[in-house]
Amino acid sequence: MGTHVTIFMFIDALGWDVVERYGFLSDFPYRRPVSMQFGYSSTAIPTILTGAKPSEHGHLSLFAYSPDHSPFKGLGRLGRFLRPTSFWERGRVRNVMTRIARKIYGFTGYFNLYSVPFNRIGLMDYMEKDDIFAEGGLTPCANLRDVLKAKKIPYHMSDWRASEEENLAAAETALTEGKVEFMFIYTAALDAMRHDHSPEDTEIRDKLKWYESRIHRLMEAAKANFGDFTFTVVSDHGMTDLTKMVDLKKAVESTGLVFNEDYAACYDSTLFRVHYLKDGAKDAIHKAVNEKTFPGHWLNGDELVKYGIDFTDHRYGDEIFIVDPGVQIVPSDLCRKSLHGMHGYDPMHANSLAAVVSTAEIPDYVHEVRDYFRMMTERMKN
Ligand SMILES: [Zn+2]
Repeated sequence: MGTHVTIFMFIDALGWDVVERYGFLSDFPYRRPVSMQFGYSSTAIPTILTGAKPSEHGHLSLFAYSPDHSPFKGLGRLGRFLRPTSFWERGRVRNVMTRIARKIYGFTGYFNLYSVPFNRIGLMDYMEKDDIFAEGGLTPCANLRDVLKAKKIPYHMSDWRASEEENLAAAETALTEGKVEFMFIYTAALDAMRHDHSPEDTEIRDKLKWYESRIHRLMEAAKANFGDFTFTVVSDHGMTDLTKMVDLKKAVESTGLVFNEDYAACYDSTLFRVHYLKDGAKDAIHKAVNEKTFPGHWLNGDELVKYGIDFTDHRYGDEIFIVDPGVQIVPSDLCRKSLHGMHGYDPMHANSLAAVVSTAEIPDYVHEVRDYFRMMTERMKN
């Protein structure tokens, strides 16, 4: 029997919106909305695992324009021969290509080709080649596992590649064995569900009920095998229903500027990230994409600093245009069609807010997703 175990459980897309709506884990006395890390889960998870800003740990989006460092040069060349392209752009074919590419390139991190067009893939670098949960996976920043190992704390951490069911079962086994002092449980299935449903849909309500029952089971196991425990649920963002689609790509391409000569760009679902390669490109793009032509705005310097995305090497673009909450860039490099819901908007927007729910008092300093790391390390009993 262990004396104490500190349990953290991450639920992707458990926004404050649904925590409030459904009174999620109403038996937990402490809860708080938390401002989202600007970006996506690919930004938030490295931030949670290190407590560092994206400009420090280096992660924002999964793809970045970088012709010299692209591991996909061969794939790009292949793409030119694959005509008609429609077959190769199909989802199922993409999934097969993703699996093959992951093997060929030896990526150990999360990898998906998504919808990056084959005529551009050879110019793109992939930013999560390594397993960010592994020891040294976020060097130069120390990640959660590095800290646990350095402090010699017996721990259990979920395998992000496994299903939620498997991760919850593994966590229960670890609790039953009674040997760990710290746990980080990872669950991510709610995100996909929320991309397809509104918060009021029964699918979402039932899924939250399911999480509650599984959490209570884990708590029973903790009670039976430990003298004392704390259980804290954390999330990375909420979700905003679709209100409008915008074809930013078409507007940019209609400027007549040539990709990879005058400019380069990545189209995320809510962000247009542009690199200016020649004089005059910026003016032409600002003429096509601005607050009057599209619902959104160019991020200013203060926002870049505030969101921790002021990358000195501009690896994610010289400038970023973000669309307003509810708007989706369609097509994007991540998705060829619109989704029912999306995230990646203004971090302070009500539907963007993440949540922390705990059996123990939440420290005053926890205001944004980045603060979870300090809370986790302070709750390690060493
Ligand atoms: Zn998502």
